[in-house]
Amino acid sequence: GQPVLEIRNLDVDYGLGDQAVHAVREVNLTLHRGEVLGLAGESGSGKSTLAYGLTRLLPPPGVISGGEVIYHPPGGEPYDVLGLSDRELRAFRWAETAIVFQGAMNSLNPVHKISTQLTDVIKAHQPNLSAAARTARAREMLRLVGISPDRMESYPHQLSGGMRQRVMIGMALALEPQVVIMDEPTTALDVVMQRQILGQLIELRERLGFSVIFITHDLSLLVEFSDRIAIMYGGRIVEEAPAETLYRDPMHPYSQGLLGSFPALRGPRRELAGIPGSPPDLRAMPTGCSFHPRCPKAFEPCPARLPILGQPDAPTGGGRTVACWLHPARVPVG
Ligand code: ATP
Ligand code: SF4
Ligand code: MG
Repeated sequence: GQPVLEIRNLDVDYGLGDQAVHAVREVNLTLHRGEVLGLAGESGSGKSTLAYGLTRLLPPPGVISGGEVIYHPPGGEPYDVLGLSDRELRAFRWAETAIVFQGAMNSLNPVHKISTQLTDVIKAHQPNLSAAARTARAREMLRLVGISPDRMESYPHQLSGGMRQRVMIGMALALEPQVVIMDEPTTALDVVMQRQILGQLIELRERLGFSVIFITHDLSLLVEFSDRIAIMYGGRIVEEAPAETLYRDPMHPYSQGLLGSFPALRGPRRELAGIPGSPPDLRAMPTGCSFHPRCPKAFEPCPARLPILGQPDAPTGGGRTVACWLHPARVPVG
């Protein structure tokens, strides 16, 4: 498919100088039109930072210290999101790329009705739409996410957590963005509800044609709903592959650890597996491969040289990239 978002050599830090936390390092990722890209990695590996960075919603002291985020608008010229002015950025958010945050269900404004909050987002971006048309769109969005439009006149506290989360997803879709980022969109919900909401989103994606970056700790949902999966460790992508390929045959030892003993696809819910040892100190990364202190397969080059992300020199490639000395890159990425 055509690329919709190309992340090139993205670096994100919290703070400056010696004390800087290097939360995202040289990330290269391409999101294609209509695809669901799953992002996984231990807590602190930089998933949310990557999502906030590419939408330029980083909280201080977060700074983008390098790279590009090339957005391809449908039928228009590609441009670098990192070069947009504040005004352009406000237009870009929601309309081109919408993000549903970790814990988004608590970000609705408690003093405004659902109807007001939905129509305000629409109004801000499409000021020429009549009030009636805005209300109709808001009702349609609620229906899309499985909420009865009678709920329009409710206040957030009158809705369950699951409904509030659905409202946030409806809001994210209201302007028909090209890219929807879901950061742990459904953790507060029960399992059945999670799968149902994600199923709906995927169905909508097929109908509306947007792309999704999907961040989760839930391995079953990740594999079930992603077309491709990228695995992060210490701020870097260490492996990326079609979802099927990755769960059947992870190549990077960290991916192998995370995926653990993989359950049946539609079996009980599974979290990503824990791996012995702790995540790296992002202020002072280990030399070479940053996973080497924890890697059961580390060997001579690992502590000394950083393995680059690239297509492995192996016939099992199939659209996969990996950063590991066990599988030296033939064609580097970036
Ligand atoms: P989780 O799975 O827990 O959501 P994550 O992969 O989304 O984790 P991030 O939230 O992106 O990880 O955090 C990446 C790193 O950046 C972590 O080490 C975190 O401690 C650090 N970090 C995040 N926010 C800040 C901040 N505001 N100031 C300083 N460091 C931060
Ligand atoms: Fe392990 Fe070495 Fe591969 Fe890093 S490069 S994951 S330490 S084998
Ligand atoms: Mg996060």
